[in-house]
Amino acid sequence: MKSYNNGIYLLDAHYLRDNLAAVYMLVEGDSVALVETANAASLQYVLDALGELNLTPEAVKYILLTHIHLDHAGGAGSYMAAFPNAQLVVHPKGVRHMIDPSYLEAGVVGVYGQEFVDKVYGKLAPIAASRIIKAEDGLIINLNGRELICRDTPGHANHHNIIVDSKSSGIFSGDIFGVAYPELILAGKNFVFPTTTPVNFSPEKMLQSIDLIESLAPEAVYLTHFGQISDIQQVANDLRRMIADYVAIACESAGASDVVAEITRKLEEYIVREAQGFGIDLSPERILELIGVDMQINAQGLAVWLRQTSSSRICFNRVLH
Ligand SMILES: [Zn+2]
Repeated sequence: MKSYNNGIYLLDAHYLRDNLAAVYMLVEGDSVALVETANAASLQYVLDALGELNLTPEAVKYILLTHIHLDHAGGAGSYMAAFPNAQLVVHPKGVRHMIDPSYLEAGVVGVYGQEFVDKVYGKLAPIAASRIIKAEDGLIINLNGRELICRDTPGHANHHNIIVDSKSSGIFSGDIFGVAYPELILAGKNFVFPTTTPVNFSPEKMLQSIDLIESLAPEAVYLTHFGQISDIQQVANDLRRMIADYVAIACESAGASDVVAEITRKLEEYIVREAQGFGIDLSPERILELIGVDMQINAQGLAVWLRQTSSSRICFNRVLH
């Protein structure tokens, strides 16, 4: 458990590997809010952390999800069963999939196979509708007087909220403000890159959401993958540039016989160049060991985006400029 200021704690969910997915705990007096739930297996780490702080499961009042991809929402049903006083706070577009997770589960089985899903997630538990709060843009959650504000931030997923913590001026950004791993830090600065998971990636919406985060001028942003970043303007600028580069790579790969493979190859080359240009002193092999899977997923998301009609206009305009 890592402790930041203002009662904010990062718990490593140990999801797939260490330092990949976070569950955040916010403690305000005798009340607790959690942000994200990783998978069911991560519940034990939360229970342990509560115990260390002399808090009981009954102290958990809210569980906020930034979105319903399963590295964020996979544990929601198990968490809700373990925390009897908790309400689940989720984007309006995610509500029905929390009440009946069978569609989500089938989607992931389709991509990764039943064996992987059984091993990593187990059976997703449904959540009673009466325990779910639909988090419209601007919804304020009151945690013992501490305001947590949900803001609609599409671009990575169309069911994505960030959570703005008024007390710390911090933002829990889910996956909309990029991904950074502790292994890729130079002199205290994180190498951050965009994540374009299928199937809702939209460069225009992602850029708007990044603008929103920048305009809120947070003191710190807490990435689910993984940890706190503070050089917000620099990261925002890097993300904008890299989103444009991702899109360019997708556009250039449109004619390939295997579009996903072509985008993956180009993205891997690109991200190694970027990381080394940033000053990360690791071999290409080590860099790809850390973020190769991210690049494969990003390539799949970019390929889905490329099939949409709006992409041809963007690719065409890009060629003209
Ligand atoms: Zn994620």
